[in-house]
Amino acid sequence: MKEELSLLEKNKKYVWQPFTQMKEWVENDQLIIERGEGIKLYDTAGNEYYDGVSSIWLNVHGHQKKELNEAIKEQLDRVAHTTMLGLASVPATELAEKLVEITPSGLNKVFYSDSGSTAVEIALKMAFQYWQQIDGNYGAKNKFITLKNAYHGDTVGSVSVGGVDLFHQIYKPLLFDSLKAPSPYCYRCSFEEEKDKCNFSCIKELEKMIKKQHKKIAALVIEPLVQGAGGMITAPEGYLAKVRELCDKYNVLMIADEVAVGFGRTGKMFACEHEEVSPDIMTVAKGISGGYLPISATLTTDEIYNAFYDDYASQKTFFHGHSFTGNPLAAAVSLANIKLFEEEEIIEEMQDKIELVKDKLEDFKKLSHVGDIRQQGLMIGIELVKEKASKEEYSWEERIGVKVCMVAREKGMIIRPLGNVVVFMPPLCSRKGELVEMLDIIYDSIIDITE
Ligand SMILES: *Cc1c(COP(=O)(O)O)cnc(C)c1O
Repeated sequence: MKEELSLLEKNKKYVWQPFTQMKEWVENDQLIIERGEGIKLYDTAGNEYYDGVSSIWLNVHGHQKKELNEAIKEQLDRVAHTTMLGLASVPATELAEKLVEITPSGLNKVFYSDSGSTAVEIALKMAFQYWQQIDGNYGAKNKFITLKNAYHGDTVGSVSVGGVDLFHQIYKPLLFDSLKAPSPYCYRCSFEEEKDKCNFSCIKELEKMIKKQHKKIAALVIEPLVQGAGGMITAPEGYLAKVRELCDKYNVLMIADEVAVGFGRTGKMFACEHEEVSPDIMTVAKGISGGYLPISATLTTDEIYNAFYDDYASQKTFFHGHSFTGNPLAAAVSLANIKLFEEEEIIEEMQDKIELVKDKLEDFKKLSHVGDIRQQGLMIGIELVKEKASKEEYSWEERIGVKVCMVAREKGMIIRPLGNVVVFMPPLCSRKGELVEMLDIIYDSIIDITE
């Protein structure tokens, strides 16, 4: 007779978890989440936890948000999915109009896919093909320039423009080459002359690289304001605008990857707005559906779109599309998400919360193993160091970030680190009291592990 396995046993027997060493997973106890409500998650044993990473940076209005649930149900009663290959759909059309309306000016065309990685793949192919198809001698513009510590997804193309060695090193032989400019990592700035104050040496280095090779560079890819997965690395004020200037000066397209920073995360709807930047191509995913369903979009300008717009025989079609491109359920919930941003004044409401978090984080600075605290809106990274004065890092084997997050879990909050950086990414709807409680848990967890 077949033995009935527990749910956890089944998980360990059949599932290969993402970004996970399965030996460690299988040898340890694991949570199985059964439901969520507001900013709390509940496991199968009935324990509750704050969703302190917004289910990996996605969630905006909390779980089981009435308006979002209803938008999906209403669409479900019409149709769950129809293809966009040769057909249009109602919600994907309406969402495109809305996206053009809310994104930086000039982004007038919307190309859908279903994850941040695919949105980036599309941006890369679009930029590459654009230069092949416009008049003039631009065929050699086929390379990308990106930043160290960049993260743009896990598919082969998006990994090729990534710069997090831990994730990307092994795949090197599979990847196409991209130019890697310095990261605007002020806390660990590698430029000697920057010791006392920032002179934008990283930008000067970037300019040198672009100046030398712009004839070969199709586009620059950047996470505006914050390099997320690289460790919540916040760029100094003015950095993004300077990058835009360089792209203009050297005729290089600017691809802004707003997958993590978009949809309110940084305190404005899109991070580019902080420096009044309009990219040539912009990718959005994560928060687009309020964190409900997988959908993403790559937006671009009329100029790029028009380079593909011709008679079929000219062979300028953009041959790209996924089975679930522009899924109607996901598009419907995304529309409802954007409506909630407006109705509940999410961005306005966030401003006080951002200040509150900033004040609370002041206390963390006194801790002997907190080296740097980086915040942009409700996107926070706390970098732990072995020794404060020398900024000596904990070795990766110590897994200090993981340890802190496991203690936080015992205290009732789910968070996930990036190496030695403890990440706090609460859902944007979190109330002030909840933010304080979550920050207290992080504070106590850091003390438990490091003091
Ligand atoms: C998460 C992320 C991606 C990848 O998105 P997926 O939906 O996980 O494929 C791409 N770019 C940035 C900046 C991200 O944070």
